[in-house]
This record gives sequence, structure tokens and C-alpha cells, in this order.
Amino acid sequence: MFRWLQNYPHFLEWAYDMTHHALVPFRRWLKPGGGVEKLLVVGEEVGKGEIFNCKMCGQCVLHSTGMTCPMNCPKNLRNGPCGGVRANGHCEVIPEMRCVWVQAWERSQKMPTYGHELHNVLPPLNRQLQGTSAWVNEFTGVAETPPPGWVPVAEIAAGSKK
Ligand code: SF4
Repeated sequence: MFRWLQNYPHFLEWAYDMTHHALVPFRRWLKPGGGVEKLLVVGEEVGKGEIFNCKMCGQCVLHSTGMTCPMNCPKNLRNGPCGGVRANGHCEVIPEMRCVWVQAWERSQKMPTYGHELHNVLPPLNRQLQGTSAWVNEFTGVAETPPPGWVPVAEIAAGSKK
């Protein structure tokens, strides 16, 4: 219903900043598993669900991905497109759908504050955070928690040289 709002990424990044600032005074109540989190989960499901088709991954990266939810990519890619993007910019898996990453690139060009973050390499998705509040996870630092057993590529490469 409100998907058209994604075409106004400049407004959405402003709304992101405003929400972040509004939550700062309440940060001590933003705890995993608390009543406040339950309220935020409902708010995120409804609000971000309507606008971004949010899948409640718990590690929201919208401001780094052109206000386009990467979890709508059928392959759940969070660091750019696969090699199968069609010449018309549509998805390899769902031909009638525009590639999430093509949209992310276009929208990031209209984002003066966070648009450059599209170039950042995002951390791997921690599936254990599925269904939790991304705002709580951001404020508590839980969003930075890597998935269990994850080893950075640099460490693997260093280990193979020993
Ligand atoms: S990145 Fe995660 S939390 Fe953010 S809109 Fe997409 S599924 Fe929802």
C-alpha cells in the first residue's frame, strides 16, 4: 500500500534519522526480550512491512541499501547483485521483478546522507535475529553479532598461509 514511498529515499533517510534521534532518550529500555521490544516488533512488522515488504531479519540495513530491503532478493543477497541480473535490470529468478540491487543503486543516488553506504561491505546475516526488533538490535549492538561459527575471510586466508 505504501510501497511508492520507497521512491522517495531522501524522505525515508530523513525519517530514519528522526526515528533514531527520537529513540535515543529511551535507549535504556531498548532491551532484547523486553515489553518495549515486543511493541517495536509489532511497529516494525506493520510499518516497514507496508513500505519495504520487510522480512523482519532483525539486522536492518535499509539506510545502507538505498532504502531497498535486500531480503526481497530471492537469494537474500546483502552485498550487491548476483551475476544473473537481466539486461533489462530484472531478476534472474523472478523475471517480472526488477532486481533489488538495481533499485538500491538508483535510490542510493538520491540519498545525500547515506547513499555512499551502498559501497560498504555488510556483515553476514545472523539468522538467529530473525523476528526480533532491528531497532533494539541496533541500539544494543546485537546487530553487529556475527552468526555462530562465522570466521572472517581474512582469518581463513591468514590460517591457510601458516
Ligand atoms: S533489512 Fe531486515 S529489518 Fe530491514 S526492512 Fe529488510 S528484512 Fe526488514
